[in-house]
Parts: sequence; C-alpha cells; structure tokens
Amino acid sequence: MSALLKDRVWIMLSEIAKRGVYPLHASRLGVFRMPVDLTDWSDISSISNDLKSSGFKMDAYADRIYATYKWTEKGLDPLTGETLSTDLNVTVEAVTGEVVDLIYQIKPLEFFGDCYWVRNYRQKADQNAKMVIDTIIRNTKIGDKLVAHYQKAEKLSLERAIKRLEELTPLAQNPKVRSAAAIPPAAGPASSPKLVQPTIAVAPKAPAAAAGADTISLSGTGTNYSKAEGPIDPEFKSKRQVVGSFQGIKVWGPVDPPGQLGIWGTQVTVDFDICIADGACIEACPVNVYEWLDTPGHPGSEKKTFMAREKDCIFCMACENVCPPQCVKIFQKGT
Ligand code: SF4
Ligand code: SF4
Repeated sequence: MSALLKDRVWIMLSEIAKRGVYPLHASRLGVFRMPVDLTDWSDISSISNDLKSSGFKMDAYADRIYATYKWTEKGLDPLTGETLSTDLNVTVEAVTGEVVDLIYQIKPLEFFGDCYWVRNYRQKADQNAKMVIDTIIRNTKIGDKLVAHYQKAEKLSLERAIKRLEELTPLAQNPKVRSAAAIPPAAGPASSPKLVQPTIAVAPKAPAAAAGADTISLSGTGTNYSKAEGPIDPEFKSKRQVVGSFQGIKVWGPVDPPGQLGIWGTQVTVDFDICIADGACIEACPVNVYEWLDTPGHPGSEKKTFMAREKDCIFCMACENVCPPQCVKIFQKGT
C-alpha cells in the first residue's frame, strides 16, 4: 500500500468540485493533495515527458495531465472451463495549480463488460492507481518540488528530504534516483545545490526576528472575558483595528488579556476568542503554517493555533473548511 495513505490525504468535496472534478456514481474516489506549485507550462509539460518510459498512456488537456495504466486479467469460466481474458485500466488525473491534486476514480467492473469472473478487482485497481501516483511523484518535477517543500517546511536536509520522498513512494516503477541519494553521507552538503539552494529556511526565522517588537501580551489582569461563538466575522477587517502584533503577526482588537485576545493574522486569520483548540487546522495544514501558542486564562481554551508561518500559506482552504466553530478565515493575496 502506498505510503501516501499514511501522509496527508485530503478529500474535500467542495474544493474538488470547485476545481471541476466530480466523482462518478458508484466509483471510488481518491484524492492526494501535494503541497507543491505547478503553474509554469514548461513544468507541466515536463511531467508527460518524464513519464514517457513508464508505459502509461499519457494525455493532457489544459492544466490537467492524465496517466492511464492498463493491465490484463485472465481466468477460467466457472461453467465451461474456457480461458477468459479482459483488459482493464485505471486513470490518474493530475490537476495542476498552486497545489497539485492527484485524483483517481475506480470505475465499476461492469464498465469493462461482462467480466464478473475477475477477482479482487477493486483492490487491484486501487493498488495500480497508487502505483501510478507514486511513479508520478517520484519520477517527475513534482518529486523535486516535494523535496524542496520538505527542506523548507520541515527543515530537513536534502538527503533526508529525498529519503522522505522515497519512503512516500514505495510503489513507484523504475524509481528515479536523485543525486544526493547516490553520494556518500560525508559528501552530502556538496550535493545540495543539485536540487535546492540551502538558503530556503527563512520562514521560521521571520516571526523570531520580529519577536522583539511584540506589543501584545498573552498575560495580564484584564477583566473582559470573551468566549465567543463562531463563525468569525468575515468583515472584521473593516470593523476592527489592528492594536498590536506578536512575533510579526497582526492582532485585531479589542484585546484584554488573558480573557480577550481578538483576531490574529492578515492572510491566515483566527478569532482566538472563538478557537476551542481541537487542533483540526494544525492537522489539516499541508505546509505547517500553524503552531500552538499557550494562552492560559482564556475561557475558550488555554492554547490557540498561531499562524507563525503565515507567509507559507498556499491558500488551499483546508483549515478554514475543517474548523468546527468556523473561527478561521483565509484571505487570498489582494483581498
Ligand atoms: S489555507 Fe490553511 S491549511 Fe491551507 S496552507 Fe493556508 S493555513 Fe495551511
Ligand atoms: S480548527 Fe479552529 S477551533 Fe480548532 S484549533 Fe484550529 S482554529 Fe481553533
């Protein structure tokens, strides 16, 4: 089974529908969202070229790429003993954009005709679809971008990021070996520029560098307690004022710590007075924008999800969609 299943798997029907993908009736749908940007046309067309030798049938339409894997099933007719054979297939669709969605739908067996005798069709189709997905990720630019993402978002060395990619794609056919993996450990750092420049880790530093400018405190003797019901007011930017900042993140008042903390953030915004600290947004975020911040004395919850790496947001909307009290609001650039 693909290690992707152990990683972040998103099935968000609203997002899928917005991107024009609709599950077929009676089909099983799998969606794997990759936190990589694939918008440059040369990058998109390189995916098909990189997979030419894979044996998949490749098609492309607009910003979508289709990889179809075909296989043949053989069996015996249970009544006549006659040898039977049928051709089956499964297609993986890559929807490119600011994130890449890898999608497959398992068609009903009847789609291929009267081949009731095929055993374990769904498991085989599922396995083959995951093999195609692993191959796409491992052998194309998507893999390179994922390695860069691991280096930046999870602070992994190039070698560890490549290892992570390899662990994620165990089913890949003819897996591409990236250069750092072939170099002895001692020579590892010298190989770094091959894929990614080693100067990327700026995101976590930005809040720390601004720490000295904090004007909001989480402790205090305030008497206002503000345990509010969701959802967050989507118009809050025109109704509230920025009253300070914390590690470079704007805070919109009123604020009266520890019981009233206001709304935090600019693009990734969370109403701290509504947040119940269930952690769904942290779990959902594919690029680790959030981290926990202790807020002792707040009546809603004594920790909140702090958008420490707000600038890394890829606007996938996952956190906004999963927040139970709807206290997250994402503002895309320019809104
Ligand atoms: S929209 Fe939310 S989940 Fe998606 S990247 Fe931004 S902060 Fe993370
Ligand atoms: S999902 Fe919403 S309520 Fe839960 S921790 Fe995140 S912001 Fe708070």
